[in-house]
Amino acid sequence: MYRKNYREHDMLVKFFTAEFGPKMFFLRGARRKNYKMAADILPFSYGSYTGNIKKDLLSYIVNPIDVQHYLNISNDIYLNAYATYIMNLLDTAFDDGKTSIDWFNKLFYSLRLIDAGIDPAIITNIIELQLLSVLGVAPELRGCMVCGRSDLNLDYSESMGGLLCENHFDRDLYRLRLDKKTIFYLRKFSIIEISKIKNIKVNNQTKKELRSFFDNIYENNLGIKLKSKNFLDQINNFKI
Ligand SMILES: [Zn+2]
Repeated sequence: MYRKNYREHDMLVKFFTAEFGPKMFFLRGARRKNYKMAADILPFSYGSYTGNIKKDLLSYIVNPIDVQHYLNISNDIYLNAYATYIMNLLDTAFDDGKTSIDWFNKLFYSLRLIDAGIDPAIITNIIELQLLSVLGVAPELRGCMVCGRSDLNLDYSESMGGLLCENHFDRDLYRLRLDKKTIFYLRKFSIIEISKIKNIKVNNQTKKELRSFFDNIYENNLGIKLKSKNFLDQINNFKI
């Protein structure tokens, strides 16, 4: 998930592990030239490792086994920025040692899809949406929060934390007035299985609306403002 220099020659590296959730490892000598595991602890690596796990202390990696790299993510600053933001979000949402094989898999497949050329903005949105239940603020996207209907025009109410149908738009004067397509994707993203995504294409206008929907929830409602997100915004502004 990230690495940071520690003392003169060492490094701390955080992995999202399948067995123990996010976990910090101490790597003695990792900053020295000719460090034998240098390639195995690069950012955007994945694989199996043996090590010593300590519950409350730093853990150690002993041997890497079959380590691979997401090469496109490593080599493309734009993909890199999305992948880094996703991992920072997970780092924010999960305490160290809080195990979730489900989220280990979501992260694994998200990075794999981004590396394979699937739109990273959309993969990020799916993670952002599904992560809201981990953060304890899952929106109701199955149907209207008042009557449950999903066959009428729907809009999103921030104050109610979910959808309203057109019969109940009057329950929130400040409903977001989102486009139909945006609502369609929000509902789809909430139930989609990331491991099964083959391709997903969303037009630019809808992508913009989705981006501002999640910015509003994460930054204004949850107060989560990450440096990696600022960097991502800068890159996107530069691109346009
Ligand atoms: Zn309703």
